[in-house]
Amino acid sequence: MSETKRIYLSSPTMSGSEMKYIEEAFATNWVAPLGKNVDEFEKEMGAYVGVSHAVALSSGTAALHLAVKLANVRRGDVVLCSDLTFSASANPISYEGGVQVFIDSEYETWNMDPEALQEAFEKYPQAKAVVAVNLYGTPAKLAQIEDICKKHGVPLIEDAAESLGSTYMGRQTGSFGDYGVFSFNGNKIITTSGGGMLVSDDAEAIIRARFWATQAREPFPWYEHKELGYNYRMSNVVAGIGRGQLLHLDEHKAKKKLIYERYKSAFSGLPLSMNPYLCVSEPNFWLSCVLMDESCSAKPMDIINMLGKNNIEARPIWKPMHLQPLYKDNDFISVNGDVSGEIFKRGLCLPSDIKMTDSEAAKVINLVRSNF
Ligand SMILES: *Cc1c(COP(=O)(O)O)cnc(C)c1O
Repeated sequence: MSETKRIYLSSPTMSGSEMKYIEEAFATNWVAPLGKNVDEFEKEMGAYVGVSHAVALSSGTAALHLAVKLANVRRGDVVLCSDLTFSASANPISYEGGVQVFIDSEYETWNMDPEALQEAFEKYPQAKAVVAVNLYGTPAKLAQIEDICKKHGVPLIEDAAESLGSTYMGRQTGSFGDYGVFSFNGNKIITTSGGGMLVSDDAEAIIRARFWATQAREPFPWYEHKELGYNYRMSNVVAGIGRGQLLHLDEHKAKKKLIYERYKSAFSGLPLSMNPYLCVSEPNFWLSCVLMDESCSAKPMDIINMLGKNNIEARPIWKPMHLQPLYKDNDFISVNGDVSGEIFKRGLCLPSDIKMTDSEAAKVINLVRSNF
């Protein structure tokens, strides 16, 4: 039986602690809307991340959308955005009519290259905001990116959807941006089944985001509207799952790190390297990935297909935004060739599920090794 059990990239891991909060919501009939779990989850996340204000939302994408609105992005405005990422980092810019200019990656973290960002500001001095991701849980070169944004007086939106719990120089990711975004989608390091959070030290900003997220209802006895609103709030039941999950975040991180370390030592000597990080960073190791050496003849898709035949889930790296048909007319700024395209071409994501057993991990490792 165990031989046919599917091995996942990253699937939800429930602890049981979630039920206490869900049951409380049911017992008090606060299943919706909002309620104590939502208020407490916001406080607990703010405390964990080290940011003073937070608003719980229906998804990370909703949080990104509200961050783009807070950055005052209007029709035709240029926003400088990480190129190597999931489309949800970039799409909310279009929701507000903004125009993405994609910024290439560097090889040390696979994230936004500060040098390319600097170059982009020279070409687009009018840029309105920056959206920078911490890919696969690895912090970007956040100090440099933060400095460049400050120098140009534009807000930084930090897409920490994949990096909850990761630190850079001892500080939590999501706290570097003027606005920080988290996701609790099913495959993330903790999950609420679906949900997101927007954090900021700017109290006014979070009040505005909360207002937009609840249909922009003005404080009148009747439904009075001056602005366009959205139905973006998290339900009290969902927030209960989040509170239970948050108690286990550090445990999830420790298990993800073991998975990464195990791959790393098992693959030493092969013509490939693990997704790298800076010595000032401690990633949450959400996904373990490998990059084949340039000279290597093994192809990521061959390995992915071979693992697939063995009921093991592996995936290509996120396809860069500048290679997406949707964004074919957007500009792409790079200073070192096409780094994100190279990582896409030569990389893959390995199973990083924290429920993976020792023998399952050994099976994955043996199958990968057999390609070299
Ligand atoms: C998952 C993810 C999002 C979107 O979060 P949802 O909660 O799924 O809307 C945004 N950015 C990145 C980098 C992600 O991985």
